[in-house]
Amino acid sequence: MDENELLEPSTFRDRISNITEDGSRKWIYALKPKGNWYKYRIIFAVLYLIAFFAMPFIKVNDMPFILLNVVEGKFILFSKIFWPQDFFIFAVGMITFIIFIVLFTVIYGRLFCGWVCPQTVFLELVFRPIEWLIEGTPNQQKKRNEGPWNTDKIVRKTLKHVIYFLISFLIAHTFLAYILGIDEVYRLIREPLSGHLSLFAGLIAFTLLFYGVFAFVREIVCTTICPYGRLQGVMFDKNTMQISYDYKRGEPRGKFKKNVERTDGDCVNCFKCVQVCPTGIDIRNGVQLDCVGCTACIDACDEVMDSLHMDRGLIRYASENQIITGLPFQFTNRVKAYTALLIGLMLGMGILIWNRRSVDTFISRVKGQTYQETEAGKISNLFEAKVLNKTIKDKKIRFALEDHQGNFRFIGTDTLIAKKEMINDFTFFLDLPKEEISERSSNLKISVFADEEKVQTIKTKFLGPFK
Ligand code: SF4
Ligand code: SF4
Repeated sequence: MDENELLEPSTFRDRISNITEDGSRKWIYALKPKGNWYKYRIIFAVLYLIAFFAMPFIKVNDMPFILLNVVEGKFILFSKIFWPQDFFIFAVGMITFIIFIVLFTVIYGRLFCGWVCPQTVFLELVFRPIEWLIEGTPNQQKKRNEGPWNTDKIVRKTLKHVIYFLISFLIAHTFLAYILGIDEVYRLIREPLSGHLSLFAGLIAFTLLFYGVFAFVREIVCTTICPYGRLQGVMFDKNTMQISYDYKRGEPRGKFKKNVERTDGDCVNCFKCVQVCPTGIDIRNGVQLDCVGCTACIDACDEVMDSLHMDRGLIRYASENQIITGLPFQFTNRVKAYTALLIGLMLGMGILIWNRRSVDTFISRVKGQTYQETEAGKISNLFEAKVLNKTIKDKKIRFALEDHQGNFRFIGTDTLIAKKEMINDFTFFLDLPKEEISERSSNLKISVFADEEKVQTIKTKFLGPFK
């Protein structure tokens, strides 16, 4: 791409970078970045992709590490099943997530978009590198796109799109494994397709969705569709860290002339930062919503600065105030406080999840029943217990009184087995000797054991005769 084709500086306020004056799409041919940030992003992306594809295979105690079955409303996080009864954890989690997103964005800008968002990671570090490999540099791609459909073009385009489709197919399967679990996906793959036609149709629909996004829609997701991207404007302030052009140092920009003393700023107007930008913007126009914080322009500019023996960092991570004052990025008290709050929120959520019971019991007296006197002269109350076994194994349940003497008489069973992944109902009489009862309504504590491990203490009331 020559610089005449790049966005004119004055147009960035009128339209987004990938739209031409007549409203049609302008295809972005991004140059491959080179430099330290790109290396860090490759390392991060490799670890990220390993985690993404490996996660559905990970099991702890025979339980998937993560399962997000939105169809059946079954969720497993960190190998713990979450039930509708755990809804409050989800509610707290959602609130924590929203606060986290706002605070994180206020401090660190679009760090998430550039480094963690699957759209950016897959597009910039999987799909676009494949395109560079098969179709060559942006200039070669553009020439080929505008040229006739010869053998070279047909072969390269077919190869690229087949690979894109296969990767999209793999991503769709991985998402399916996150939803149904890897064992279920294996089972479905082995069984005849005719038995799962609707599921297969859904899988193909998602494959086509991913393929369409990564092959054609691309940066439009970030510049137009993504709601998080659109919200950035209200979350940024002058201290938000973002990819910034140091206009104080760079302006007035002017071409570099060998052996001529430079009177302009450090920007030599080489347009390298624009050529590498995957959303096609010119970061020198200031902070723009279209910037996904990918750091490609930092690398491009640093390379130019190195070649001209100028200091790096004309484009760098910096807040607006840092560019104005010229001070480096500092962990101010505000950043420290927000970061501490973010860590606190994450720890709080972690503790909430960790302390969540995997066998949850509710015991209450049967409504409308009062006490009875047994033939043995004891006072008896009828109770019902609901034992929610959130694990994938049946559990042997035992109840014991904590600070009273008495015995349990279960109706219809002698051995309490709480079936896996179910709410189990039990009804029982609790008999207490008269001398154990001092009031009309006595407080009782019942210990609940699952496989002989104490999992809960339940407080309830026991009715007796007036004293
Ligand atoms: S301006 Fe720089 S950081 Fe922002 S999207 Fe473009 S290349 Fe990436
Ligand atoms: S890469 Fe650096 S020197 Fe070149 S145009 Fe961009 S800001 Fe200016």
